[in-house]
Amino acid sequence: MTKTIFITGGSRGIGAATARMAAMAGYDVAITYASNREAAQGVVRDIEVAGRRGVAIACDTVDADGIKRAFRDFDAAFPRLDAFFNNAGIMGKAGPFIDIATDQLLTVMAINTTGAFVAAQEAARRMAKSRGGPGGAIVNMSSMASKLGGAFEATDYAFSKGGIDTLTIGLAKELAPEGIRVNAVRPGLIYTDIHDSSGIVGRVEKYKDMVPMKRGGSADEVADVVLYLLSDKSSYVTGVLVDVAGGRGL
Ligand code: NAP
Repeated sequence: MTKTIFITGGSRGIGAATARMAAMAGYDVAITYASNREAAQGVVRDIEVAGRRGVAIACDTVDADGIKRAFRDFDAAFPRLDAFFNNAGIMGKAGPFIDIATDQLLTVMAINTTGAFVAAQEAARRMAKSRGGPGGAIVNMSSMASKLGGAFEATDYAFSKGGIDTLTIGLAKELAPEGIRVNAVRPGLIYTDIHDSSGIVGRVEKYKDMVPMKRGGSADEVADVVLYLLSDKSSYVTGVLVDVAGGRGL
């Protein structure tokens, strides 16, 4: 039976790279996007070119009801959920801790942390063996910022990703008897559009010399790890936070 993967924030960046790679690996793929329908449709076309089914679902993960609706749309398109990549996330405008606006903090937390919690719940409800599901695997999207703290520019973002690390450990323990493995990836500086919203021009280039490998990473380099953690090749791996950061944070 063809396996199905659901990826939030699959229209661009790391989510899009994972969607394309998943299709090449034989998954049918559902992705969500927040506003960039054109980019999402481009990813769906690439999934279809790889010979798999692709579906794009609009979903702003700032809204818990919207997340639940997106999972119902998923149910309408696919018979079961095998793998969930809990990826959607944003960065706010960079600034010192003292100046971070409360509105920005609340939005970052709503999308990156609360939204990811609700989405993981929806995935687990569909996968859990006690509810008639097939079991499965979840990968949560954290960041090296959770380990480094985001000092001087992104403490809100780092704080939001710390919650993802904690959630991953709790879910790995609670969902193991349900046949669900839960891991997280913690990328470092990856070349995607997310840095633009920080207001720091060329953010990866600017900081790459702080990375032991002296370069930023690609979305594909993260996608490779995500798909490994979602595959049966990692069948005895759960509760692990995998740094994909070129040695940053060691
Ligand atoms: P990206 O290129 O900016 O892509 C973000 C994706 O998330 C897009 O598909 C976007 O949809 C979607 N999205 C944005 N706001 C959303 C919202 N409110 N609700 C639902 N979806 C939303 O970013 P990326 O770098 O691939 O980031 C993906 C994840 O990786 C994030 O959780 C980020 O924190 C994490 N991460 C990134 C890095 C890095 O260096 N790039 C490092 C560590 C962790 P639209 O296309 O419709 O806008």
